[in-house]
Amino acid sequence: ARATIGLTGLATMGRNLARNIARHGHTIAVHNRTTQKTTDLVEQFGDEGDFVATESMEEFVGAIAQPRTIVIMVKAGDPTDAVIDELVPLLDEGDIVVDGGNAHFTDTIRREKALSEKGLHFVGMGVSGGEEGALNGPSIMVGGSDHAYEHLGPIMESIAAQVDGTPCCTHVGPDGAGHFVKMVHNGIEYADMQLIAESYDLLRSTLGLSPKEIGEVFEEWNGGDLESFLIEMTADVLAHDDASGEPFVDVVRDAAEQKGTGRWTVQSALDLGVPVTGIAEATFARSLSGHTSQREAARKVFSTSPEGEREQPDRDTFVDQVRAALYASKVVAYAQGFDQIAAGAEEHDWDVDLGMMATIWRGGCIIRAQFLDRIREAYAEEPDLTTLLTTRYFAEAVKDGVDAWREVVATSARTGVPTPAFSSSLAYFDGLRRERLPAALIQALRDNFGAHTYERVDREGTFHTLWAGDRSEQEMS
Ligand code: NDP
Repeated sequence: ARATIGLTGLATMGRNLARNIARHGHTIAVHNRTTQKTTDLVEQFGDEGDFVATESMEEFVGAIAQPRTIVIMVKAGDPTDAVIDELVPLLDEGDIVVDGGNAHFTDTIRREKALSEKGLHFVGMGVSGGEEGALNGPSIMVGGSDHAYEHLGPIMESIAAQVDGTPCCTHVGPDGAGHFVKMVHNGIEYADMQLIAESYDLLRSTLGLSPKEIGEVFEEWNGGDLESFLIEMTADVLAHDDASGEPFVDVVRDAAEQKGTGRWTVQSALDLGVPVTGIAEATFARSLSGHTSQREAARKVFSTSPEGEREQPDRDTFVDQVRAALYASKVVAYAQGFDQIAAGAEEHDWDVDLGMMATIWRGGCIIRAQFLDRIREAYAEEPDLTTLLTTRYFAEAVKDGVDAWREVVATSARTGVPTPAFSSSLAYFDGLRRERLPAALIQALRDNFGAHTYERVDREGTFHTLWAGDRSEQEMS
């Protein structure tokens, strides 16, 4: 057995990850259910490093030095369980099984429990950055035991994206912590993209700019605070023309798809009671776009532009207001995402270093951005901060942008351009900073119809008013 690591599942992600590992000088045993993929990989890229091609699972396991580190990169869900079941009887105590697929973190918790009972280490490893990242340096979020990270960590840190000499790979915490953080990361990516899409729609529908002109605006934005992979990519996509001569964005069907990680993030946020309004609106906006029959019915009944005067704001002023609204909404989306990670960590007893998450997302992944350095600094200054929103740098950014943000949301409401993420982020901000919330009325109503009790502002205790009786107040505890 001469391989230091093994990888099974050589589709797009696995094959690129295997090449990346081999290119970094690690001897890697490779395996795939359909052997042709293994043969193809070694034929095409065998000269990039030291691959040990194997056909059967027995041969694969036998090729790896003990304690074995085995990465599974197959379709998430049942296929992952099938591969684990096939592997386990062939392994020895102390071996490390790593799931690098997009598993739901609760599946990872379940699998870790089952394998640790057999004396094996199970790692849930979130890998971000798609095909390109897998090959040239992804962002890697590892969940598992310290022992597992001692073996796996150095290899993964060597193949991860590197930013300022720091690898974009870390030991997030035990069992499901890595996949949980990867999930929230994907949720943040949903919000980020939705905010960009709303900005584009506003500039196009309100100012009448062409995709090319909007692409130039994004290119300019990429030179400032908003500098990020997604903004850069937006400039690139908007500048691109289809072979037909039409702007590319105009020939793409406007129904956004999703693989489910946004939905998982929102479901988990509901369970944890964390308001992730930006991510939720982004997820629902994708669903709405796909509801083609409802959209068609609504288009027939309601004209697409609202009644009344169409306003034409000053171009430069409005472009700058949209930029400010985008930045402020982005701060909110990230603040919410980090809240969810903190809440998840608390719920599952994971000790997650939040600043480290911002650090390892600076490279390799889709949400890489200059902005993440500010988040890293905020956590370095105050590791237990209550919300990112109120830290010095972000508070200033939001204060500076709030008037523009309101103007953009008001304009979108008047002109009928839907901006669910901009609007809900502003509502979240206003909700947080409000002296008194109408939640008081909700508590009063709940006590009236269901005797759900309430607390008072002026003294301790739990109270109930006899609404159907003499309306006297009872102290419950
Ligand atoms: P796919 O999700 O398309 O999975 C295909 C691979 O799974 C093939 O190697 C296939 O083997 C294997 N497989 C499927 N069912 C079984 C089974 N029952 N037993 C054994 N092997 C099986 O591949 P991707 O490369 O796209 O993704 C791999 C993982 O990485 C997934 O979990 C995905 O969610 C995750 N991921 C993907 C990203 C992306 O951008 N694509 C980004 C980050 C993570 P065979 O060749 O024999 O059919």
